[in-house]
Amino acid sequence: MNVSALKKAAQQAVDAAAATLFDISNKMHADVELSFEEVKAQAWQCAALKAAGFAVEEGLGSLKTAFRATMSSGKPGPRVAFLCEYDGLPVYGQSCGHNVVAAAGVGAAIGLAKIIKEIGGEVIALGTPGEEGGGGKNIMHREGFFEGIDAMMLVYPGMDNIAHSRTVGATRVQVEYFGKAAHAAARPELGINALDALLLAFNGISALRQQLPSDVRVHSIITKGGTLPQVVPDHTAAMITVRANDAETLAKVIPRIDACLTGAAQMTGARLERTWPEKPGRELLSNFALAQRFDHNLQALGRVTRPRDELSGAWSGDTGNVSWFVPTIQPQIAMTARDVPPHSHEFHAASIGLAAEACILDSAKAMAMTAIDLICDEAFAREAKAEFAATSVMPPARG
Ligand SMILES: [Zn+2]
Repeated sequence: MNVSALKKAAQQAVDAAAATLFDISNKMHADVELSFEEVKAQAWQCAALKAAGFAVEEGLGSLKTAFRATMSSGKPGPRVAFLCEYDGLPVYGQSCGHNVVAAAGVGAAIGLAKIIKEIGGEVIALGTPGEEGGGGKNIMHREGFFEGIDAMMLVYPGMDNIAHSRTVGATRVQVEYFGKAAHAAARPELGINALDALLLAFNGISALRQQLPSDVRVHSIITKGGTLPQVVPDHTAAMITVRANDAETLAKVIPRIDACLTGAAQMTGARLERTWPEKPGRELLSNFALAQRFDHNLQALGRVTRPRDELSGAWSGDTGNVSWFVPTIQPQIAMTARDVPPHSHEFHAASIGLAAEACILDSAKAMAMTAIDLICDEAFAREAKAEFAATSVMPPARG
């Protein structure tokens, strides 16, 4: 078979699996499981992959809801991995569309498996749990589960069709202030108000925003504001996330955020406790050569694509760190209108139905087609590899 016949065969295999893929996605949407508790989602995906002839390992290293499904051609060639994510959010359900990501990954693996024996190499569906704040991929990377993979991809449903997608670097800090309890009306002068400290810190950060580079995002919630209004709050807590395009900007911004935190402690006399993570999450290193092929294949499926821009991804993810160790793409495929953002109730609602199903099929097909290009076109494989070698220089230590 020539390359276009191979791509046709893979597409047909994805279409033939459509009912199974939609079933996985629909069940994950109806029965949302949180980070590292995705037992059912793991079982549904693994069952489909086993039925398609894959050798499946359920539970990898310390992560019981991770999985790896492998099909080798028995011939030399690149090992291509399709990543599946499947945790949902508390309250906001599948508002990140991980049910679509998972079904697309399984679909791409089934599509490529159909012709893998003919073209050589190996196809892997890698189940990566705990993406929403859990950093599951970082744990799997530390434990060696990304070793030996030549290229990997996953597709996110979103508001646009963008092959050369981007995500930004991010870090999150837990903040606590400790004050002194006292009767809030009878003897307030004997208390130290930990809520005032937190509010002053938030206001300091708000004032700082004017002086921050435009790509920086600082967003936070108060997780404990006090216990009773008649008691001067002696313990408060918050979570603050800071994001920026690159690690250098993040490294400059973090001390300025920290100055707001320590300043508030000084103003109120409350004691501050916070520990910034040693290694912030890195931005996605999207492989341009791979992304261009994906773009081409997506257009061949009838989707109008557009280049990335500043608005296409001020979000982050745990693919960011691992993309510096394995050539990676994480394209977006349009599922919703431009005014329906991820992490909204409306996006959760959109993650099921016809648009979501079209996303699953197109994502799976375009990924399988790009993997076929990589396996069959040695010059292209070399180009992707050379680009990775040139752009991924000086990666940080593992994890
Ligand atoms: Zn998300």
